Amino acid sequence: MAKNVLRFAPSPNGFLHLGHALSALVTWKAAELLDGTAYLRIEDIDVQRCKPEFTQAIIEDLHWLGLDWPEPVLVQSERFDIYADAANRLRNMDLLYPCFCSRADIAAAADGSDPDGAPLYPGTCRHLSNAERIERLERGDPVQFRLDTEAATERTGMLTYSVIGPTLNDRPQIRYARPQRWGDVVLQRKDTPTSYHLSVVVDDAAQGVTHVTRGRDLEAATDIHVLLQMLLGVSTPIYHFHRLLLGDDGEKLAKSKGSPSLRDLRAEGWTPEDVRRAVGVFP
Ligand code: GLU
Repeated sequence: MAKNVLRFAPSPNGFLHLGHALSALVTWKAAELLDGTAYLRIEDIDVQRCKPEFTQAIIEDLHWLGLDWPEPVLVQSERFDIYADAANRLRNMDLLYPCFCSRADIAAAADGSDPDGAPLYPGTCRHLSNAERIERLERGDPVQFRLDTEAATERTGMLTYSVIGPTLNDRPQIRYARPQRWGDVVLQRKDTPTSYHLSVVVDDAAQGVTHVTRGRDLEAATDIHVLLQMLLGVSTPIYHFHRLLLGDDGEKLAKSKGSPSLRDLRAEGWTPEDVRRAVGVFP
């Protein structure tokens, strides 16, 4: 039987906090239950916000928690060409179009909101003529590239995927993906030839990931991932969405909201066992 492969894929734009510890511990726990291997992946496509010192800290904090992984660690910022190739494949299928809208344009024209609560892109630039596209590209207008989600779903037909949950011991259930609710998502951003959605799908496939363990905050985004997997002809992993740790304000923990980092807790004398107890995941 093929080996089960899992991954923990943090973005090094800050120090890990208890929410990340929960995600990492769930991933290694799932690997243990599935007799699989957990990999570390560094999701640093946002080269402005991600810093090598945070990557180093992630590695140290995970080792402190007692987790390890096979080398080499996949680092997304080393793979921009590979993501651009995947985008080109979608472009050759006529599923990618240039969008010149600014944030303000989108906010003004938005047609409701996406599952994350962001303004839903109304598809303005989908209707530009080829001549206009060429002219604006040649002029060097800031551009991002969007998936024509409707054309893409017409091509794939109905999409389903398997979810294990709420606990890791539950049987997988089949779920429908509904990418249409995201509208035409950006696959190549203005500042980079990729996006979270595109890179995560390309890399899950490249690493042979069989089971994706991620927080419930990324549950809805999985719709887009399942669509991209089908378009790119790669297999869809099984998903498990774990609970989120909430702060006193009822919102998910975040460095930006002052949630203590694992290193802060460690400096206060916490042990890895204290972390496990706090997040409720045991070997
Ligand atoms: N890099 C993403 C994050 O830090 C998680 C990746 C994923 O599970 O898709 O939220």
